[in-house]
Amino acid sequence: MIFQTSISYLKGVGPSRAQLLGKELGIFTYSDLANFFPFRYIDRTRFYKISELQANSAEVQIVGKITSVKTVKQKRGSRLVAQFGDETGRMELVWFKGVKWIKDSLKMNEPYVIFGKVNYFNGLFTMPHPEMELLKDYKKGFKSAMQPVYRSTETLSNKGISNRVMQKMQQQLFLETKDKYQESLSQAILRQEGLISKNEAMFNVHFPQSQELLTRARYRLKFEELFFIQMQLIVKNLNNKTKNKGFVFDHIGDFFNTFYSKHLPFDLTNAQKKVLKEIRKDVNTGAQMNRLLQGDVGSGKTIVAVLTMLIALDNNYQSAFIAPTEILAQQHFAAVTELLAPMGVNVRLLTGSSSASERRIIHKELEEGSLQILIGTHALFEDKVRFKNLGLAIIDEQHRFGVAQRAKMWMKNKLPPHVLVMTATPIPRTLAMSVYGDLDISVIDELPPGRKAIRTIHRYDSNRLSVFRFIREEIAKGRQVYIVYPLIKESEQLDYKDLMDGYESISREFPLPDYRISIVHGKMKPTDKDYEMQRFVKGETQIMVATTVIEVGVNVPNASLMLIESAERFGLSQLHQLRGRVGRGADQSYCILMTSMKLTKEAKTRLQTMVETNDGFRIAEVDLKLRGPGDLMGTQQSGILNLRIADIVQDSDLLYKARMAAKKIVYAEKGHKDPMYQTTWSSFRQIMKNKSIWSNIS
Ligand code: ADP
Ligand code: MG
Repeated sequence: MIFQTSISYLKGVGPSRAQLLGKELGIFTYSDLANFFPFRYIDRTRFYKISELQANSAEVQIVGKITSVKTVKQKRGSRLVAQFGDETGRMELVWFKGVKWIKDSLKMNEPYVIFGKVNYFNGLFTMPHPEMELLKDYKKGFKSAMQPVYRSTETLSNKGISNRVMQKMQQQLFLETKDKYQESLSQAILRQEGLISKNEAMFNVHFPQSQELLTRARYRLKFEELFFIQMQLIVKNLNNKTKNKGFVFDHIGDFFNTFYSKHLPFDLTNAQKKVLKEIRKDVNTGAQMNRLLQGDVGSGKTIVAVLTMLIALDNNYQSAFIAPTEILAQQHFAAVTELLAPMGVNVRLLTGSSSASERRIIHKELEEGSLQILIGTHALFEDKVRFKNLGLAIIDEQHRFGVAQRAKMWMKNKLPPHVLVMTATPIPRTLAMSVYGDLDISVIDELPPGRKAIRTIHRYDSNRLSVFRFIREEIAKGRQVYIVYPLIKESEQLDYKDLMDGYESISREFPLPDYRISIVHGKMKPTDKDYEMQRFVKGETQIMVATTVIEVGVNVPNASLMLIESAERFGLSQLHQLRGRVGRGADQSYCILMTSMKLTKEAKTRLQTMVETNDGFRIAEVDLKLRGPGDLMGTQQSGILNLRIADIVQDSDLLYKARMAAKKIVYAEKGHKDPMYQTTWSSFRQIMKNKSIWSNIS
């Protein structure tokens, strides 16, 4: 196939350029070059006369002739100056690099089309390093309304592969390949989505014939890119469901029903009910559930976990509930035992600090099957922990658990347990679709009624005294306070010093015996950390000074004030997570963001967003816009977001559309055999075969 031809065979490329293109841009074949899309376009529909130039003109295009050239010596090297004129005036073209080579190649008194930015100085317009082409060649080339600009690198420009050269290569490529693109999407989809053909799109994205065609070309190509990614994720999800057989929980019995009608301490929110329905449907299909449950802090994920575990119990299966830290495991254990107290369910806690005798009981009861719910930390993954019939694993805060660990747990079973991963880190929908598109996702998008919104305030360091006064007032009312310092890896030593200095001054400001302070930071031994945490949880201390190590999900309802120092140094999601530590009790809660006076524009946006909203999803959307998808997900997953033309932030509407369309086809009853979608399926198989393009999707 012509598109697999090595780029070195393209006229005007050759082996050394080919090597450069491969190394710098990953372009090895005709297909790679064709799919190397411009990242912006310049309007070249308009030709200027020299008399029309303005001192602040942007890039302009002019037709004229060179009348003379001279080399001017300067401090270092020399510059080349050409006199250039049209019928309305004259100007100068200037080169500082490649002087000799350019001088030899310039043609006198022949019409050129020049293009570039102009400078104005002492009544004279000059254009440094113009892009230029003889008018007669210009007329021969593909006409474009908009001139494409391709991404380049310094090495490439130094080796003379300018944008103009890249355009020439694209032209040459199109001379050889025009109209040879195979349509990758079925006619039905093209019609339904109003897309232009592949050939038309490929031509117009490189050589736009009009603004409108360019827009349609880009739309078509973005759609296609997103569509096939989504198609792959959806197929993977479907394969999981058919391949990974799971237990069938088809029985809703006494455990669930009794608890639900007699012991539920509150009415479920509609969002909780909706999620529970989704879970009940999943566990009943005979396939393994792999569901991600997203819900902002305090949205009530625990009760959903408990009800799901009761369904497992009704079907005679054990459940495991795993938290990332000891404290969280303890809190889950306390919450679950309290909720299930009237139900006579056997619930136990297993963590690193469980005693040998406790472990013996746990191991024995687990293997016998009399232990119904086991809550704990990583300790649950130990080899000695063997369930009789583990049917459900609930994992809180997935970010801390590797998939490998999850897999290890499944191995102990004949069948893998259903997996429910809960996270309080809101992931914007577009991102969730792209990165977790193969998981099923549930969202609790509503808080339980009667919550008092946390009031967030931004204060400068100069207001410190009044902030301390406010803290004293809150403590006098019996409240507790978090004071958080940044901890950013690169400056760990410095941050540690900040924390210690802060602790000193807080201790002076809030002295014994009236005030007691806990301190927690990353350099402490885990047991000391736990001890300090516990003192705060029990209310023995009123102030907790900490770096960001304060545990995700820690619940101290009496803590109603959070002071974040150097808040400008935190990312949005971190700020939101931290703020979630307060607002858990009946009292009005506050979050005070302390910063210096010097703030970047981005920091201002972050602070303003925090002050304006408590909605984790809105915050995540802003974060996505500020940082881009790669940063947001960490480098691990950013590969999937390396798109050629689409942008999941800017093209989010298109992403939904592409996903819907892909879903429709994957789920179409006749699947592969439906002739209506044959073209699409065969492109899909082709793409899957060229796995290299898709290796970024694990
Ligand atoms: P998170 O989603 O952060 O884990 P939790 O499950 O800890 O949230 O719930 C936060 C608090 O809200 C708990 O005290 C819980 O009892 C309470 N809660 C949960 N659901 C409801 C509801 N539907 N109505 C009232 N209170 C609720
Ligand atoms: Mg929780």
